[in-house]
Amino acid sequence: MNDGPQRIYLSPPHMGDRERALLAEAFDSNWIAPLGPHVDAFEREFAAAVDRPYAAALSSGTAALHLALELVGVGPGDEVLCSDLTFAASAFAITYLGATPVFLDADRATWNMDPALLREELTECAARDKLPKAVITVDLYGQSADHDPILATCDAFGVPVIEDAAEALGATYRGRPVGRFGRFGVFSFNGNKIITTSGGGMLVSEDGAALERARFLATQARDRAPHYEHSAIGYNYRLSNLLAAVGRGQLEVLQERVAARRGNFDFYRERLGDLPGLDFMPEADYGLATRWLTCVTIDPQRFGGDREAVRLALEAENIEARPVWKPMHLQPVFAECRVRGGGIAAELFERGLCLPSGSSLTAAELERVAGVVRRVAGRP
Ligand SMILES: *Cc1c(COP(=O)(O)O)cnc(C)c1O
Repeated sequence: MNDGPQRIYLSPPHMGDRERALLAEAFDSNWIAPLGPHVDAFEREFAAAVDRPYAAALSSGTAALHLALELVGVGPGDEVLCSDLTFAASAFAITYLGATPVFLDADRATWNMDPALLREELTECAARDKLPKAVITVDLYGQSADHDPILATCDAFGVPVIEDAAEALGATYRGRPVGRFGRFGVFSFNGNKIITTSGGGMLVSEDGAALERARFLATQARDRAPHYEHSAIGYNYRLSNLLAAVGRGQLEVLQERVAARRGNFDFYRERLGDLPGLDFMPEADYGLATRWLTCVTIDPQRFGGDREAVRLALEAENIEARPVWKPMHLQPVFAECRVRGGGIAAELFERGLCLPSGSSLTAAELERVAGVVRRVAGRP
């Protein structure tokens, strides 16, 4: 029960009539299974949208990460390098295979993996004769990582890259869509992402045989036989045909969603840009960020309150805001894992706040958010 103003969510789903029509079509066709014509079409259309030849629709981004790591051969005892500043799913999948994550700090200019730290880490790993089995880069909050130096370094050491682009569908790096800057690219259609199927994911690659293998593993590893025959351990990771129908409708409006999210960011910058001690997540000049979430950092001295004061003031007005991801090296579950650096990610967590960023936000709602932030700064 709440008779105050309507709640403003951080990043709610944004559905349209096309999604409803496609879903109804899938329902009526009775393809209510983790396969069917919408799954095939969604894969084709998605692959085209991110300019990769192959895509496999899966039940989540986490499932896609898990399969990608398995396909590059990660196993027990291996190390996998991963961005420190990310959502835990990037790192969880490493542990599913019995491997250990090693975390690399963020670059302050992009909030993504620092390519110089990556080079340091791989150089030392090579000297110890224990290279990691893979590197997971993350395109954080809708901004591409700096892939050219990352890929050059990984190529030099022969370590495959998996690009976790779960937060960055629609973003570009040097004019090309994200998700293509590694052996595998991973996307998510979780309910809070820029487009959603309520839950779902996509694995993309240049390697058609590897994606065939991914589909096989994702469908309980059923060998070709009339009976149920299994020569490998499988998973139940395929996307439902119903949800693929929703995904097709969402994909049609991706560019509008990107424009709306960037519009939110522009609004906040216009309305809050003058506040001392409040800074926006920088946009690197190498690409287009989608601004999936508008993130700010707050210097408590200069702003006149810390990010928690702002978050709580927003919550009191029934507005959802969230701290920036808590770095992996500070998570209790990863307390034993190695980290290179970590100070920048920790600072971004301490000061960083994600403002409501949904693509369906109205001007009045944005104004409500901005008004609360200004009030905390003492400049209403
Ligand atoms: C959302 C997200 C994932 C996980 O995707 P799911 O579809 O929720 O499993 C992985 N990595 C990052 C960076 C994410 O933000």
